[in-house]
Amino acid sequence: MDKAYIMQKAREENIQFIRLQFTDIMGVLKAISITVDQLEKALDGELMFDGSSIEGFVRIEESDMYLKPDPDTFLILPWTSPTSSGKTARIICDISDANDQPFEGSPRYALSKVLKEALAMGYTMQVGPEPEFFLFNLDHNGLPTLETNDKAGYFDLPPVDKGEEARRDMVETLQTLGFEIEAAHHEVAPGQHEIDFKYAEALKTADNIVTFRIAVRTVAQRHGLHATFMPKPVYGISGSGMHMHCSLFKDGVNIFYDPDKEDGLSDTCRYFIGGVIKHARAICAITNPTVNSYKRLVPGYEAPVYIAWSHQNRSPLIRIPARRGIGTRIEVRHPDPTCNPYLGLAVILKAGLEGIKKQIDPPASVEQNIYEMDLASRKEHGILSLPENLYEALHELSEDEVVQEALGKHIFSRFVAAKMKEWENYSSRVYDWEIDEYLAKF
Ligand code: GLN
Ligand code: MG
Ligand code: MG
Ligand code: MG
Repeated sequence: MDKAYIMQKAREENIQFIRLQFTDIMGVLKAISITVDQLEKALDGELMFDGSSIEGFVRIEESDMYLKPDPDTFLILPWTSPTSSGKTARIICDISDANDQPFEGSPRYALSKVLKEALAMGYTMQVGPEPEFFLFNLDHNGLPTLETNDKAGYFDLPPVDKGEEARRDMVETLQTLGFEIEAAHHEVAPGQHEIDFKYAEALKTADNIVTFRIAVRTVAQRHGLHATFMPKPVYGISGSGMHMHCSLFKDGVNIFYDPDKEDGLSDTCRYFIGGVIKHARAICAITNPTVNSYKRLVPGYEAPVYIAWSHQNRSPLIRIPARRGIGTRIEVRHPDPTCNPYLGLAVILKAGLEGIKKQIDPPASVEQNIYEMDLASRKEHGILSLPENLYEALHELSEDEVVQEALGKHIFSRFVAAKMKEWENYSSRVYDWEIDEYLAKF
């Protein structure tokens, strides 16, 4: 897609508004709406905005920024309100600073930089995500509750309820948005769902995840439901992850596959795993970026707790799905859907490339259920744990220069500062659990 094509489409399809989208460093979608008569100027990258009020961007003194639309991301939005006379389209943007240089604080730029590094080694990364989420009822004031109205479980067929209907609508909406949906099913917990879409190159997948989250939430609302990507909304039942299936390609060939190896995995794939495992604790700060993220990473709910890899078992950080040949891939299981997908993929790729460059051997794979191993046998296998909480993860990030480099100085410093504040805010409060546990006892 290029400028001429978009201009023509805008006329043909009666597009009135264009949303110029980007994300802040937390992965929150931001949009600036323009009318169609500004479109040409926007496509020429001449539209400016004030970056000072965007989380993690810039100070007021240096707040002029340019939006640089990526024409490949042009899309007509299907949920334009029926009362307005024209349609709305969106374009995802890169960002430049006042001197027209790529802006270091843009997460999309951070990912592009690591992708460039991969390309210099001959690699492109393909990623297929598995986002999970809960659907909760709204109360009379339209506010989200923690109630679901279904009692279904994993892969259950409906008695059709509101949640199932909403999910079907989500799939249709996503298809109109150009998604190829591979699977959509009920997950383990009541009210929990998963919709998987086809893998694509990393940048496209990150763009897709951002679009996916907004589409899912928009459709849920239309059905009187609230969709949440919060990792662990309810204690005692499964949380929501966003597993990432990753592979590297070189000249159209999947280089994670090696038919001469007993398990079909190439040395490159093993080194990639080695790199991700080595940097996993720091990666967590980005892929599991909220206080709540760490309440999902506990034993017993198919979410990883320990840093290990396996050909079969679902308890470790990395699982190798059975497919070989072009579908050979690793499934990185710790990310959750609150992660900024640009940053999440940037740090995973960076760690994997580091593994390849330094030929980092992964530890032996673990085929037992690690949840059932005691501390002594985990020690014997050299199995470490993921961080216990956001604070620990941020500390790891502050020590890990490889992961920091993937983020760049700007994002690294703003991210850690904002997240430390979040941690302090959380950890200084008194919660119900403490009152129940201590008030009467002491
Ligand atoms: N919900 C689980 C998680 O938190 C994954 C369950 C599954 O997809 N098998 O990662
Ligand atoms: Mg799945
Ligand atoms: Mg799942
Ligand atoms: Mg999975």
